[in-house]
Amino acid sequence: MTSPSKLYGQNSFGEVWGYAYAPQVSTRLKARLLRDAKGLRLVTEAGEELHAGAPSSRERISGGPCLMQFDDKWTFDTDDIDGVELLLGPADDGWISDLEHWHPRLFAFVALCLVGAVIIWKWGLDLLVAGAIALTPTVFVTSLDSGNLAAMDRILTDPTELSQADQTMVRNIFQKVTDHAPHAPYGEYRLEFRKADAMGPNAFALPGGTVVVTDALIKDFNDPDIIAGIIGHELAHVSERHSLQQLYRSLSAFMLISLMAGDVGPVLEDVLLEGSAIASLAYSREHEAEADVIGVKTSHAAGYDASALATFFETLSADYGEGGPEWMSTHPSHADRVETIKSLSAEQ
Ligand SMILES: [Zn+2]
Repeated sequence: MTSPSKLYGQNSFGEVWGYAYAPQVSTRLKARLLRDAKGLRLVTEAGEELHAGAPSSRERISGGPCLMQFDDKWTFDTDDIDGVELLLGPADDGWISDLEHWHPRLFAFVALCLVGAVIIWKWGLDLLVAGAIALTPTVFVTSLDSGNLAAMDRILTDPTELSQADQTMVRNIFQKVTDHAPHAPYGEYRLEFRKADAMGPNAFALPGGTVVVTDALIKDFNDPDIIAGIIGHELAHVSERHSLQQLYRSLSAFMLISLMAGDVGPVLEDVLLEGSAIASLAYSREHEAEADVIGVKTSHAAGYDASALATFFETLSADYGEGGPEWMSTHPSHADRVETIKSLSAEQ
């Protein structure tokens, strides 16, 4: 077998011309690196020996000259790359060629970091929220329901004044709709009646599955199809964990991480259980649209006219305009919702 050094004639006599630089001085001397009977030496044009022995380092500037450093600080550079290889053998990979080898890997690494940064920037909160939801125990979610309902009862709502007949009628609809609703993630769906004049004809769902309907809703819209449509919509907010998502989105990353660590501090506990945080949350446009789609399917499956929800929105727009909690929220616009619900109902 022929080794590369033999191929390149590492120990053969020869010379390369270039320039030598004195230590600490910028003047350059025309010089040659030569190998003769005395060995490898750096010699000036006039024959004066500057250094005896091999260079201590040797670097190839990419596409440029070969740079050599000698122990006593003499520097020598030459463009005769082939000559250097003949004289000294093939170059070991210096740090510059190392860098060239690394370049694709370095590029991939930087690209990966950028992708990671974009993911964290764009989906970091989503990921944290999803993680927190996955790690939230059922008992915590049901205590969110009772804590928030108690807080609302103190500041926002009064006991219902609906007749027993009305309550029974709504409970029967609720039962039929829940029978056809997606699985309740945190135990049974529960129905609560409240008089809440500030909220108008309204309904809202707490994360654990408690659906609250206001007296005004039942009085103003005493129509089983509409009530079924509204309940179906609210149950979808529960099954898809919309209010838990909105609630967690309103918390800081620090609070979410504490929550995931199972360490619900006193401040967080106050925010979640004592405040009326959930009542003041607005769902996103996507959540409302999703709840409309699922709600229409659920109420239809339960035997109700799913297009009634469209009638409800049309009446709301005429009587209350757009704006206000849940039903009167500005997103998506009532006109859009009415169109979507009508076409969804037609498909059922
Ligand atoms: Zn909604």
